Amino acid sequence: MIHRTDPALQALSWQRQLADAISDPAELLRYLEIDKHLLPATAASQQKFSLRVPRWFAGRMEKGNPNDPLLRQVLPLQEESISKAGFVLDPVSDLTQSPVPGLLHKYRGRALLIATGACGINCRYCFRRHYPYADATAGREGLSAAVAYLEQAADISEVILSGGDPLMLPDHRLAELTYRLEAIPHIRRLRIHTRLPVVLPDRVTPELIDLLAATRMQPIVVLHANHSRELCHEHRLTIAPLRESGVTLLNQSVLLKGVNDDARILCELSEKLFSLGVLPYYLHQLDRVAGAAHFEVTDAVALDLHRKMRASLPGYLVPRLVREEAGAASKIPLG
Ligand SMILES: *Cc1c(COP(=O)(O)O)cnc(C)c1O
Ligand code: SF4
Repeated sequence: MIHRTDPALQALSWQRQLADAISDPAELLRYLEIDKHLLPATAASQQKFSLRVPRWFAGRMEKGNPNDPLLRQVLPLQEESISKAGFVLDPVSDLTQSPVPGLLHKYRGRALLIATGACGINCRYCFRRHYPYADATAGREGLSAAVAYLEQAADISEVILSGGDPLMLPDHRLAELTYRLEAIPHIRRLRIHTRLPVVLPDRVTPELIDLLAATRMQPIVVLHANHSRELCHEHRLTIAPLRESGVTLLNQSVLLKGVNDDARILCELSEKLFSLGVLPYYLHQLDRVAGAAHFEVTDAVALDLHRKMRASLPGYLVPRLVREEAGAASKIPLG
């Protein structure tokens, strides 16, 4: 039995915890003992893309600190209404590279399946903030078309489950999906991109671990942690069993001004990840989505941070610094 720090949370399933997520900025600020003067500014942004944060993740935030890097990632702020040239509604325009609804085949050998549009947390810098990805998912009905496409695309050896967050699906739905995919002989790897195990460790259920341990495909889980403080002892208890079951664990981060634009924090994150058996994979420049301009770090600063990481860490702890460009054959390395 995994020991939980908060017995009240321990009693709830991950689904109940998600349903119980904080969605009222006033409640979050009250809980964090932060002065309400921040509130009028949050109201307008909140209406466009609401606050959503699991209580477990809120529990990782520092009380009384309005600049807490975890809080900054989820609290709607006035700055979001500032428009800036180049920051658009659909920065990556992925949907044009979709052969069937919910499936993106953009890069050779890999296809990305939007397993669900839902997410367990609303990150302010997310490209989802303007797009009803729920309309473009390979849900139950769409799945057959996606599977048919994958069956005839013999060059695809890896399927990436993305979203939203694919781990929003209950385990039995993930199992269904996995069985459909592993029946296609040329699919060798199953990759899951998810933030849920970071912001809600209880999502890593024994059923999920068993599913990934048992599949014929090689399982890869790409976590999404941006700051060393997002990771703690509970992740050791939930993430380590994944690794022990043969899952390759990677992490991707987004470079965010006021959150992790600091070489010391990024190095700490890499060290912490490795201590959990996770390798840093990508450090992304922000997708230029409208409302997120205040998070942008210039390329010059990003390159300087990356140089400092290289100067302090073994090569395997330095993530690749990349950006996503519409129409490119891969993520584009900076510099
Ligand atoms: C990022 C991405 C991938 C995966 O790229 P890797 O470089 O293999 O991590 C695949 N498909 C799409 C559409 C993507 O955006
Ligand atoms: S977890 Fe990922 S997909 Fe979900 S809101 Fe955050 S950045 Fe967006």
